[in-house]
This record gives sequence, structure tokens and C-alpha cells, in this order.
Amino acid sequence: MDVRGYIEANSRGYFDALKQWLAIPSISADPARREDVRRSAEWLAARLRATGFPAAEVWETGSTDPSGGRGLPAVFAEWRSDDPGAPVVLVYGHHDVQPVEPLEEWHSPPFQPAERDGQLLARGASDDKGQVLFHDLGLRACLAAGAPAARSAPPVTLKLLVEGEEESGSPHLADLLRRERERLSCDVIVITDTSIWAPDVPSMCVGMRGLFGAQIDMTGPELDLHSGSFGGGVPNPLHAMAALLGGLHDSGGRVTLPGFYDQVAPLSAQERELIGRLPMREKEWLAAAGHSRAASGEAGYGTLERIWARPTAEINGMWGGHTGPGGKTIIPARAHAKLSFRLVAHQEPAAVEAALRRYVADHTPPGIEATVTSEGPGVRPAFSPIDSPAVAAGRRAMERAFGREVLFTREGGSGPEADLTDILQAPLVFIGTGLDDDRIHAPNEKAEMALLLKGAEAAAYLWDELAAAGPELTAGRPGGTESG
Ligand SMILES: [Zn+2]
Repeated sequence: MDVRGYIEANSRGYFDALKQWLAIPSISADPARREDVRRSAEWLAARLRATGFPAAEVWETGSTDPSGGRGLPAVFAEWRSDDPGAPVVLVYGHHDVQPVEPLEEWHSPPFQPAERDGQLLARGASDDKGQVLFHDLGLRACLAAGAPAARSAPPVTLKLLVEGEEESGSPHLADLLRRERERLSCDVIVITDTSIWAPDVPSMCVGMRGLFGAQIDMTGPELDLHSGSFGGGVPNPLHAMAALLGGLHDSGGRVTLPGFYDQVAPLSAQERELIGRLPMREKEWLAAAGHSRAASGEAGYGTLERIWARPTAEINGMWGGHTGPGGKTIIPARAHAKLSFRLVAHQEPAAVEAALRRYVADHTPPGIEATVTSEGPGVRPAFSPIDSPAVAAGRRAMERAFGREVLFTREGGSGPEADLTDILQAPLVFIGTGLDDDRIHAPNEKAEMALLLKGAEAAAYLWDELAAAGPELTAGRPGGTESG
């Protein structure tokens, strides 16, 4: 039996197991569900042990001091290859789910998984339990049917880290990665929490934009002034703020912060060509974009290039002065704005913060005081070059599963990927088979059952593809030796 045959023959067992797991309401944001998140972790660890993982553990996160900062548990599993030189691969996913409100909009209860017309309906079906568990089925297929004879261990050393707080912003992940850096050390990180373009247009995500946010406050006079008595004679902070914000982009839609583009990796001709081959229909895209009436952005780039591969500056809010009913003839004392920047490789949030501070200082007129307050350290962008050995191996695995060419996408969101790649010092490969219309985070989340099985098949091939690429992947190891 080959991999595909094995997966077909065992799909019922996979879906039945997945439905058991989906029935556990592991909502990380809900303090009343902490025990359910723990049960979800224990369920997965037991499943992985049943598959044959010699080690499958529930890891506590956060402070071990019960008085504060206790996190929700993650699952770690490890199965070493018989070949000590084989690459070490870490699969990352999450077993927590989003809240389910408004409940009345669900056609079937979110934690009573239902199968309908080839779809599996439940909270977590796509994001992310269905995708995490396809790795389990894929590994079973790889062991049973991936080689001439059944194997007793995977062709790569396989590690899994399945987090329980991703939907709550992964507050303890970075600490966990640092604490367990040794056991998590790897040559490649496989992220399994992404979408493909369409069922008949398989694709791989190769990047996620980063983020930096800040608030600007401007103060002019100590108090709101009568504009009849003082208007025209003192600087108006709202005018200064409007001019500063208006100058953030040039006439071509480029951000004007000094040095903003210095670290931006340009799109290669090959990437642009591949992005151009995605069947993007602008009308549909605009409809999904809140029925926007026109596309706009940086000159010289298409819409997908703008939202995936180019950085942005956005004004998220601006306020000050009189906004109530009727008129009020004042020079306002203060003006405020909130900004956020979407970043692409290899921009650093700290460098963007410095550039913003310089820009604000340069654009604050005499008599106005401006302060910039950052909204935290920001998120670094994540990016995998399409010609890197790990992405090439992932692409071959996806192409074998889907039987057609696999294109590349990027995603706008910013998850824990940057921490994973930064702290563990390994490249990312995104193997996911969700769809953008899976209604993740919304009522009636679903997964296409056929695509979950395609994911399992890609996962089954992935270990052999990565093993074959071994020397290229392990070349970056310190001392060239096994680091795990
Ligand atoms: Zn999610």
C-alpha cells in the first residue's frame, strides 16, 4: 500500500479521533476553560504516544509560582530518527481555540463536531486541531507505507510543539522556547497553521508581516484657547498632527520615514512572476475588503505584492479638540494619533520605532511638544526564501500530494513565527491546507475533509523530502554536529 492508499484506508480513524479532540472546548481566552485546555493537551499527548512517539509530554508554561503568571500547557513530543545525521524537524501548531460567541449564529454546536457535504464543522476544525492532527496521520502513513518496508522510526528526527495559548497571543511562548531551547533545537521549523489559495490552486505561505505600533501625542497651549482671541497667533497641535500624518506617504504611496525601506528584501523577478500566476480576481478581493471601491497603495506594485511583500504605515485613529455636536471655536491644547506599521523582512521593529521618533521630531513645529509612545516591542516579520532548501523540500511534498504545481503566498497576520525562528535559529516552512473561507475565529468554522487528508499526505512525504535535503539543512549547525 502506498501513502495515499494508507491515508484513504485510515481516514475514518483520523476523523473519529479528530472529532474526539474537537469536542474538548480548549478556549485559551476563557479562564473557565483552563481545565479543558489541559484535557486537550493530555488528549494529544496520549494520541501521539499511541502513534509511537517515545516521548510525548505536557509542558507547563509561564511562572511556576502558583501566585501568578501561570500559563496554559503545551504538548511536546519527540521521535528520533535511526540516522543520527538526519535533519531535526520541529512541527509547530496549537491546540487552543478561539471563543465561540455569538453562539446563536452556529448552525451546529461548536463542540459537537458534525460532518456535512465533505466538511467537518467545529471550532478548531481548521484552526488548528485538524491541521495538527494531520501530521499524526501523515506520520503513521510515512512509517507504514512510505518506504519499501514498514519503518520503525521516521526518516528525520521529529519534534512537535503544540501550544495552548496561540489564540491568546502566545504570551508565554518566547519564555518556553528559551527555557527548552536544547530540547527544541532543530534544523527546520514546520508551521502548520496556514491556508492554500484554493482547493485546486495549492500554495505555500512563505512569509508573514511583522508589526510595530505607536501613539503620537502633541501638546500646544496649556489649555484650549478662544480662536477669536488667539487664532492665527499660536501653533495649533491638530494642524501640526494633520501635516505630520499627511506627510507619512509621498505621492507614490511610499512611506517617508527616514531609512524605512533600507532593510526591505526586494521581491525577486521569480517571486513576482509566481505571485502573478495566482488567479486573483480584484473585484472579489475588493468585495472581501469591506466592499472597498478601489484598490490603492504603493505605486509600482500589484495588490498581492502590496499586502504581502511591502511594508506599510497606517493611521489607526486620530483625535483631539472639539468633536461633539455644534461648533466650538477653539485652538485645541492637544492632538493624538495611533499608528501601526506592517513590516516585511528584514525590517526590525526597533529600527522603525527609531525612524518614527526621528520623523516626528523633524516634523514638529516650534511651540508644539510631541511624544511617541510605542505599543510594545512589536513583532518581527517572518520570511522563508522560496529557493531555500527547506521551502523547496516542502514544495515537493505539497506537489506530490496535490499532483500539481504549488505556488507561493504570504499572510498578513503576525503569529509566533518570528519568535520560533529567532529563538531556535532555524528556517520556517509553512505546510497548511486551510482555506481563507474556513471561517476561522468566526461562527461555523469548518475544514474541508479532503484537504485535511491532502495535508496528511504532504506531511507523509515531507519527512522523506527533508531527509533527502539533509546535508543542505544541517550545514548551518554549530560545529556541523547534531545539536539536539
Ligand atoms: Zn487562529
